[in-house]
Amino acid sequence: MALRRGLYGPQALAFLPAIALAAFWLGGEALLLATALGLPLVFFLSGGYSRSPDASDIGRAQVDLVNSSVANAMANDALESAQSANLATACVLIEIDGLDEITQRAGEATAETLRDLTLTRLRNTLRRDDRAVRVSDTRYMALLAPSLRLDLEALLQLSTRLQTSLEEPASVDNSMRYLSASIGFCGSPRLKSGATGEQMIEAAQVALAEAVANGPSAIRAWSDNMRAAHSAQKSLQSEVDKALDNGQIQPWFQPQVCTSTGNISGVEALARWIHPERGIVPPAQFLRCLEESGRMDRLNEVILQHSMTALRSWDQAGLDIPRVSVNFSEVELRDPRLSERIQWEMDRFGLTPQRLGIEVLETVIASSPEGIVARNIVELGKLGCHIDLDDFGTGHASIAALRRFKVHRLKIDRSFVTRIDRDEDQHRMLAAILGMADRLGLETLAEGVESVGEHALLSQLGCDHVQGFGIARPMPTDQLVEWAKEYAVKIAEAQMIGRKSG
Ligand code: C2E
Ligand code: CA
Ligand code: CA
Repeated sequence: MALRRGLYGPQALAFLPAIALAAFWLGGEALLLATALGLPLVFFLSGGYSRSPDASDIGRAQVDLVNSSVANAMANDALESAQSANLATACVLIEIDGLDEITQRAGEATAETLRDLTLTRLRNTLRRDDRAVRVSDTRYMALLAPSLRLDLEALLQLSTRLQTSLEEPASVDNSMRYLSASIGFCGSPRLKSGATGEQMIEAAQVALAEAVANGPSAIRAWSDNMRAAHSAQKSLQSEVDKALDNGQIQPWFQPQVCTSTGNISGVEALARWIHPERGIVPPAQFLRCLEESGRMDRLNEVILQHSMTALRSWDQAGLDIPRVSVNFSEVELRDPRLSERIQWEMDRFGLTPQRLGIEVLETVIASSPEGIVARNIVELGKLGCHIDLDDFGTGHASIAALRRFKVHRLKIDRSFVTRIDRDEDQHRMLAAILGMADRLGLETLAEGVESVGEHALLSQLGCDHVQGFGIARPMPTDQLVEWAKEYAVKIAEAQMIGRKSG
């Protein structure tokens, strides 16, 4: 049954509309009957609640899952019953990290067992009159029964208790499984008067997003500061779509240089929003908005077109920039007409596909070993585009996948590069990555090179290319012309000194 916890006294009636919705969604006949009669007693007789969840519940997690309209109705009821008694309630959202990975590694059945176990633990830790349901594969919602004292301290204590219980190691199929829980909550006293259940859930969602971003195992409360940040994010969301269409979003370019010749081997296109009031807005602040509004494909189109226009203008200015690399997200890589579209774009600009680099995150390759993403990458490689594996070291791509996807170059993540000249462990790790790439016949580029010491050691260790603030920061198209000219002079001087001293 969806509601195994007992509801007593007036609270049972207060939750009736939600139960009706839950019954509709879940199709539980006893629940429907009870709802129709409006008698809490019927619930009791049906045996559908007021018993603790036990092992026999395992495998029936779907009956404890509710959709968003049921969740909203439940939250409305929680708010109404609290307000009518002049008491407080709270919505606590819990995101379980690690379930996706367990599904991938151990299979759906193990993950489902853990989902059930999590709900059982959640319900056992809450008080009798609180309610807990699952709202997605990895997320749970608890609504607290009306209470006099639900201040920040009380809610933090409760969240910590919940987290401790949910993070207990669990033995499933003879293996120990470790989950972590991020928690975001919103207490009703923090809401404006007249707020709806949906708004209470939305506030808890914002707090949870903040917890997840600071996780694992973080706990965050919805606060006024968060409210300000959230409304700024919302106004950004409404502006970002227009910005994409009116040309305010465009790429800046960061040079990549070859360690043996010193020449520019390419540039990476990095999206920037040139905002009339806020100034230069980095992608971290607007990519999520674009993802949420399903406009990542449009971003890719815009960045690609600006990049090809820039490449042509550099050619005309007499610069030698062999290639522009563009970041492709998983959404774009799922486009069944991707290679056709790229071929068409390159033809339109009169540029060969060799001039375009495709940057694919290692995590995308690791999670899509076959299917449309794999086919697209192979097709783009065949077309002549250069395939870069971005943030290498942060995912789990197999060596077989590197071969299958015909990757040309590993872009070693900044976390492995930083301080290599001062940290022995970093140095050893980087040398091992370079050795492996060499044996696999892959080119390498080190990202985030900030100091001369790092640059020098990378050249010495045989890393083929470097990119980072130490060489140059990302810059607009025109500025790159100036930079490249000055850089060419410096390289020529260095070569001259090298020849004289040699
Ligand atoms: P990324 O692809 O790993 O890009 C490298 C990021 O590191 C860039 O941040 C760059 O400005 C920064 N960076 C470069 N050198 C250094 C350094 O020496 N030190 C430090 N601390 N940082 C350095 P940015 O431009 O903020 O981009 C962040 C991420 O946003 C990118 O990471 C990429 O994943 C994504 N992104 C940017 N533009 C696009 C785009 O057009 N499409 C897609 N799908 N993603 C994009
Ligand atoms: Ca990149
Ligand atoms: Ca990167």
